[in-house]
Amino acid sequence: MKSMPPLGEFAIIERYFARQLADRDVLCGIGDDAAIVNVNEPIAVAVDTLVGGIHFPDDFPPADIGYRVLAVNLSDMAAMGARPRWCTLALTVPQSDAAWIEAFAAGLFGLAEQFGVALIGGDLTRGPLTASLQIIGTLPGGRALERGGGRPGDDVYVTGSLGDAAAGLALWHSPASESVDALRARFRRPVPRVAAGLALVPLAHAAIDVSDGLIADLTHLCGQSGCGAEIEIERLPISGELLAALPADETYRCALAGGDDYELCFTAEPAQRRAIEDALAACGTPLACIGRLTEGRDVRVTRGGRRFDLAAPGYTHF
Ligand code: ADP
Ligand code: MG
Repeated sequence: MKSMPPLGEFAIIERYFARQLADRDVLCGIGDDAAIVNVNEPIAVAVDTLVGGIHFPDDFPPADIGYRVLAVNLSDMAAMGARPRWCTLALTVPQSDAAWIEAFAAGLFGLAEQFGVALIGGDLTRGPLTASLQIIGTLPGGRALERGGGRPGDDVYVTGSLGDAAAGLALWHSPASESVDALRARFRRPVPRVAAGLALVPLAHAAIDVSDGLIADLTHLCGQSGCGAEIEIERLPISGELLAALPADETYRCALAGGDDYELCFTAEPAQRRAIEDALAACGTPLACIGRLTEGRDVRVTRGGRRFDLAAPGYTHF
C-alpha cells in the first residue's frame, strides 16, 4: 500500500466519509452534531461491532472490514424484514493512515450503494482497531419478522449454504486453491439476504440470521418461540466448495456450529412452502428446508433418523 502523510480527524471525515446524498429523507447529514432523518413508518435499529483480532484476523484487508461491518448489520435488517436506509459509523483506528481509510471506505460505500444505504454520521477516534456501525431501517407496512413467532409444525428453512464462512476462517492461512479461496471469500464478504427478508414478511412466522452458528441461532429462535426443532443433517445445504475442502463430517460441524455465514434461518407453515419457494426464487436466493419446529424445547439433529450429537453449539464471547 502506498504511504501517505497523516490526515487530521476532520480532513479524514471530509475526504472519505462525507458524501453527497441523494436521499431526500436525510434532512441533515454528516457535519452537524446529529443527523436528522424523516420517517413515516416504524423503524428497526441495530448495531454491530467488529474488533480487530477478535472478529477478523490481523491481516484482514481494510476494504473487507468496511464491507463486513455494514454487511453484518444489513443481515440484521434482513432478519427483521426491514428495509435498510441509514447508518452511522464509529471507527477507531490505531493511526491516521489515509490509504487504510480509503480502502475501508471503498469497501463500505461499495456495499452501501448496492443496498441504497446512506452514511449519515459517525465518530472517528484513535485506539485499537474497532469498527462499530449502527443501522436504521424502515418496516414496510409496519410489519416485521421476529424470533418469537415460530410454532410447532412449522417448516425450518435456511437460505444459501452453511459452514462456508467458518471453514474459510479455519483455512485462512492455508495455501490457495479454487475451493479454499471461495470459502475465504464467504467469510470476507457475506451476502446479506435483504431482499429475501423483505419478501418473507408476509410468509414466515419467525426469522433469525445465522451469525453464531445454525444450532446456536436456531436455539435462540426456538427459545423465543417456546418450541423445539428437529433438523436433518442430510438436508443441510452444503456447498461444493466446502465438500471439496473438508471431509464430510467436518462439513457437518461447520454447517451446524460454524458462524459468520449470515444466511437467514426462518420458519413457516407447511402450507406456505410453494409461496416461499417462488418468493425466494424471484429474488435469486437459494433455499433449503432442513427440518421442522416441534413441541418441547430440544433442538435436535438427526442423521439417518438417529440422533446426532454436536460437541460445541456455536461461538460465544464469554
Ligand atoms: P461531535 O463532536 O459533535 O460528536 P464530531 O466532531 O465527532 O462531532 O463529528 C463531526 C461530524 O462528522 C458529525 O456530523 C459526525 O456525525 C460526522 N462523523 C464523524 N466521524 C465520522 C465517520 N467515521 N463517518 C461518518 N461521519 C462521521
Ligand atoms: Mg463525535
